[in-house]
Amino acid sequence: MRQPENEAPTRGIAVLGSTGSIGTQALDVIRDQKHALHVEVLSAHSNADLLVKQALEFKPNAVVIGDDSRWKEVHEALFDHGIKVYSGSEALEQVVETDGIDMVLTAMVGAAGLKPTLRAIEAGKHIALANKETLVVAGELVMGAARRRGVDLHPVDSEHSAIYQCLAGEFHNPIETIILTASGGPFRGRSLESLATVTKADALKHPNWDMGAKITIDSASLMNKGLEVIEAKWLFNLRPDQINVVVHPQSIVHSCVQFEDGSIKAQLGLPDMKLPIQYALTYPRRLPNTFPRFSFMDYPSLTFEAPDTETFRNLTLAFESLNRGGNAPAILNAANEVAVARFLTDDVAFLDLPRVVEHAMERVSHVNQPSLDDLIASDVEARRVAAEWRSVKSS
Ligand code: NDP
Ligand code: MG
Repeated sequence: MRQPENEAPTRGIAVLGSTGSIGTQALDVIRDQKHALHVEVLSAHSNADLLVKQALEFKPNAVVIGDDSRWKEVHEALFDHGIKVYSGSEALEQVVETDGIDMVLTAMVGAAGLKPTLRAIEAGKHIALANKETLVVAGELVMGAARRRGVDLHPVDSEHSAIYQCLAGEFHNPIETIILTASGGPFRGRSLESLATVTKADALKHPNWDMGAKITIDSASLMNKGLEVIEAKWLFNLRPDQINVVVHPQSIVHSCVQFEDGSIKAQLGLPDMKLPIQYALTYPRRLPNTFPRFSFMDYPSLTFEAPDTETFRNLTLAFESLNRGGNAPAILNAANEVAVARFLTDDVAFLDLPRVVEHAMERVSHVNQPSLDDLIASDVEARRVAAEWRSVKSS
C-alpha cells in the first residue's frame, strides 16, 4: 500500500501483460480509480513503445520487457525518470516479489503466465487472475500454493467473476452446479462443412468482445470455454459434472450458480471487461464508475441454447482432459497454443485445431500426480508433438 499525505492508502498493482487487451483496460480502470489503486510494475513481451508510454504516465517502480533486445531502448527512455527496467522471463518472476506490490494482475497470454503467478503467490501477493492458462496447466499446484500462503485469487475472466460475485455472502452454501455462458463466437450455428474453408480473418471477428488474437481464436473454436471449464473446476473446487455450458449469444448473463435448494443466481452486465477487472482489483469494494449501464429495454430477448459439441469438438476434449486429470489439461493447453499459432500463420485450417490437440493428447504420456517439473516437461513435449502434426491431405 502507498499512502499519499492526508489520503487513504492505495493498493499497489503489478500489471503483467500491460500492453495487451486486458492490460490496457486495467490501466484505464487504474487511471479512473487512482484514489484506490496505483501501478507498481508494468510488463510487456515486445511492445516497447507502448510500455514506455504507459510507464511515463503511471510512474511504476519497475518495468519488465520480455524481449531482451528491446531492453536498451526502454532503459534509455525511462532512466531519467527513476524507473527500473529489467528484461527476460526470469526478471518477471523476480519482480513480482517486490515489496510495494499488493496484487498482481496476470494479463499475459499463455502458459508463460504460470511461473510468475506461482512466484507471486509464494511471495504472498494477492492475484487478479486473467491468465486462465495458469490454472489449466497447474490448477492443483496453484490452488494449493494459494491456500498455503493465504493468498486470494480474484478471477478476471467475466464468467468466473460472475460466479465469484454470485458466491458473495454464500460461504456456507455449497454449489450444486454452475452454468458457464458462452457467446458461441463468430461461427455459432455453422455446419462442419461450412467451417472447412473459414479464414483467420473470419475467426478473428468476435461478435461481442474485443480481445487478444489467441483468446479470440479460442472463442471461435470453443476452446476458450473448455479452458474456462477447467479454470472453474480449480477456482470453485468443482467436479466436472457440476459444470454446465450454455450458449448465450448476447453475452449479458455472464454466468450463474445453482445452489442446493435449486435457486439460481446470475450476474448480468454489458460485455465490458472493465467491470470484472475493476471488481478483481478493488475487491471486495464496488467503486462507482462511469461504465455504460445495461438496460433490459435494449435487449428485449436474451436467448440460450445448447453448445454444438459435435462441430466444436474442443469443448469435449477439454472435459475429457479434466476427467483424465493429472497432466492431461497441460497437454491440451500446450497443444492448443501451438495449434492456434499455426492457424494464425495459415499453417493449419480451422477444423484442424481440435485435431492437433487430440493428436497431442493421444501421444504425450499421462502422469497422474504431476510435479511442476512434470507439467513443464509435458508442456514442452505436447508443443513438440503439436508442431509436428500434419494433416492427412498434406502428408
Ligand atoms: P493480448 O494478446 O492482447 O495481450 C497479451 C499480453 O501479454 C501483452 O502485454 C503481451 O506483450 C504479453 N505477452 C505475450 N507473450 C508473453 C510472454 N511469453 N511472456 C510475457 N508476456 C507476454 O491478450 P489478452 O489481453 O486478450 O489476454 C491475456 C490473458 O487474459 C489471456 O490468458 C486470456 O485468455 C485472458 N483473458 C482475456 C480476456 C479478454 O477480454 N481479452 C477475457 C478473459 C480472459 P506484447 O504486447 O509486448 O506482445
Ligand atoms: Mg471468459
